[in-house]
Amino acid sequence: MLIDSHCHLNFKAYKDDLSEVIGRCHQAGMKVINVGAAFDTSQKALEIAHDNDGMYAALGLHPIHVYDEEFEIKKYQDLINNNQSQVVAMGETGFDFWHLQESLDKGAGSIEEIKQKQEKVFRAHIQLAQDNDLALVIHGRNHKDDPSLNAYDHIYRVLKDSGAKRAVIHCYGGNISQAKEFVKLGFYLGFTGIVTFDKTGILEEIVKWIPTDKMLIETDAPYLSPEPHRGKRNEPVYVRHVAEKIAMIKGMSVDEVIAITGDNANELFNLK
Ligand SMILES: [Zn+2]
Repeated sequence: MLIDSHCHLNFKAYKDDLSEVIGRCHQAGMKVINVGAAFDTSQKALEIAHDNDGMYAALGLHPIHVYDEEFEIKKYQDLINNNQSQVVAMGETGFDFWHLQESLDKGAGSIEEIKQKQEKVFRAHIQLAQDNDLALVIHGRNHKDDPSLNAYDHIYRVLKDSGAKRAVIHCYGGNISQAKEFVKLGFYLGFTGIVTFDKTGILEEIVKWIPTDKMLIETDAPYLSPEPHRGKRNEPVYVRHVAEKIAMIKGMSVDEVIAITGDNANELFNLK
């Protein structure tokens, strides 16, 4: 079944036509996981899940927002307790060094302090996921030119050391040897519309290599619209274009890719 394993219908980009966008999801017979990036968007993801069939929520504070608000474990635990059948994961959480300069400009502290703050919040998400038997949705983004600020190395270190079991590294942007290490630990990798236009060949190599039981597809809508919708707002039904490209790369049929990635998402997130 077609599942968009990561998107943000809970963001402002959909405030004017949310019900139309969800209507198109229902028409496509798909399931959708809306991912929180702060407390308010986590609540909104829950609201959407309550009001609509086939919609689920991940709750979390994105690493670029850890300086905008505190991650209060108790508040998130209350959300989980009160919305048992809607919450399927914690996240998105992880490390983001791409936006480091903005955090430095905000006076968030030294690079070392920023790293530590992101790690502390990441570990709190892992704890909540483990306490409540939920999956983890992980975000990573490397610094644009400093190789010592590699988000995926830090994600790997923290996940391994915490003994986390159920996780997807969403919008995977690491290299292939890191991909192999994540899969070895049993984690899934999520692929977005970037596979439809990436010119580096790196993603294609990873998609070609990845065992089919470890791949997920996603839009990360409203961002990252796939071909042929680039430059416009993204939405969950476009995840089909990601499936088509993966099918091409792996020499599989589109239906097979949709079926397998759907099974994988059902399994990871325990979707009902
Ligand atoms: Zn996202």
